[in-house]
Amino acid sequence: FRVTLTPIRRRDKGVAGVIAVLHDVTEMEKLEQSRREFVANVSHELRTPLTTIKSYAEALDDGALEEPPLAGRFVDVIRNETERMIRLVTDLLHLSRFDSRRNQLRRQQTDLSEMLEEVVDRFSFQLRQKAITVTVKVESKLESVWLDRDGIDQVLDNLVSNAIKYTLDGGSIDISAGRNEAGMLAIAIKDTGIGIPKKDLNRIFERFYRVDKARSRNMGGTGLGLSIAREIVRAHGGSLALDSDTNKGTVATVLLPIVLEGSEQS
Ligand code: ADP
Repeated sequence: FRVTLTPIRRRDKGVAGVIAVLHDVTEMEKLEQSRREFVANVSHELRTPLTTIKSYAEALDDGALEEPPLAGRFVDVIRNETERMIRLVTDLLHLSRFDSRRNQLRRQQTDLSEMLEEVVDRFSFQLRQKAITVTVKVESKLESVWLDRDGIDQVLDNLVSNAIKYTLDGGSIDISAGRNEAGMLAIAIKDTGIGIPKKDLNRIFERFYRVDKARSRNMGGTGLGLSIAREIVRAHGGSLALDSDTNKGTVATVLLPIVLEGSEQS
């Protein structure tokens, strides 16, 4: 319910009473509202780089083109902002793909160690650049499981890329996989980074929510990575949670039901 209160004023401006109206906010209305918020967010996120691109193109047109060092810097800004828009649109496509692909996972037999090593390989350049060390540990009895490889690769990419983005140079990342007490496959990605303040922890899965917008932008973030990851994990019947200590680090844990054999569909 949503409640609106309207005071009933007497002629001498005193309050004689209050009219309380209870609104029944149905599920449909809530969905509609979150859809509206999402569209507003997307528009804002796309508008920001577009405005920058427009003003730098105008500056080039107004004479900056004649000053080579300046022109070069302006072109760099335009290129960076364009890349940001491409990332954003790619993320949006991923979101909508998994929105409409629930229950249609393409599971395949997957070697866990190989999958995790390959994630690390995809980031080897950034890891070397920031001198971050990585360890990968997989419980020996749990070598191969059935999962949607593209989907889980995307989840791991998003989580490892966050672990790198929010860890200072020289830090470390530990990736482990094993069976937990409840019999689920638990993949944990633990970093020694800046961490997430407790008050933000339950909001970071919201689309476009970022603890520090400027820092996320500078790191190439879109604010969609965790929502995409959670969407994919839920489509598997699993869950994704983050636990964090400011200035100590963050652990992202993916829990997935273990499917040991199967056909190509779930
Ligand atoms: P972004 O593209 O901004 O990284 P995400 O949805 O992936 O978006 O993450 C949302 C926010 O959660 C980030 O902006 C960051 O503030 C916080 N966050 C996510 N992962 C980590 C991490 N490993 N360490 C610290 N903060 C993190």
